[in-house]
Amino acid sequence: MKHSILPLILLSFFTFSCQTVPITGREQLSFVPASQILPMSFDQYSEFLSKHTVVEQGEQAEMVKRVGTRIEHAVERYFSDHGLSSRLSGYKWEYHLVEDKQVNAWCMPGGKVVVYSGILPLTKDENGLGVVLGHEIAHAVANHGGERMSQALLVEMGGLTLDAALSQKPKQTNDLFLAAYGLGAQVGVLLPYSRVQESEADHLGLIFMAMAGYDPHGAVGFWERMIALQHGKAPPEFLSDHPADARRIENVRQFLPEAMTYYRPQ
Ligand SMILES: [Zn+2]
Repeated sequence: MKHSILPLILLSFFTFSCQTVPITGREQLSFVPASQILPMSFDQYSEFLSKHTVVEQGEQAEMVKRVGTRIEHAVERYFSDHGLSSRLSGYKWEYHLVEDKQVNAWCMPGGKVVVYSGILPLTKDENGLGVVLGHEIAHAVANHGGERMSQALLVEMGGLTLDAALSQKPKQTNDLFLAAYGLGAQVGVLLPYSRVQESEADHLGLIFMAMAGYDPHGAVGFWERMIALQHGKAPPEFLSDHPADARRIENVRQFLPEAMTYYRPQ
């Protein structure tokens, strides 16, 4: 008898702790309330900005805000059309360009975006930045950080709620938060989420950028440049040496026809 109870408990735990990712329909573990995560995220964002040189003016800073805002509106439209607007409640979208050589960009929960100046030579133009922000914002609105945080609480804290973990082990919980949301030492484009989450962010990102009026075909070139930079090799050479990366480019190509059905050039 006692052996049959554990699976039941686990089953009910998962049943009440899952939600569905928009567009892909994947079930993800999620029991960290946004009402708690968002304030933590906003604090981290302010702290990050206070320690970095924010580019306030100029063409590039304006481009970051423009692209971000267009993707934001696309996401809001998609979520509203699918009855999911509540998942964006509490979002306070914000976009900042920071002076930093790193090739990076990220979006924290609640729509807090940073683009590092070091990624702009790779994005090349506004459409290329649309690829990056579509992808990073997709990670946020697909709740990938919340999923990782839920997994971490389950595996490393024995399934404690965030509240309990914060009061019992504040330091460790904060470290888990930073890691789950990609705010440890390295984050964003260069340090990927799981392969499933990466593929999902590619998929959603292409649709959001297309809805925002950016041509999703630009994603193939951007990811080829990113991967070439990581491996120090030009395409197509790295594709034969790194099958996982080759697969990713191939996946992006396969998402294009669907994404193009959302594409409205502006
Ligand atoms: Zn990613």
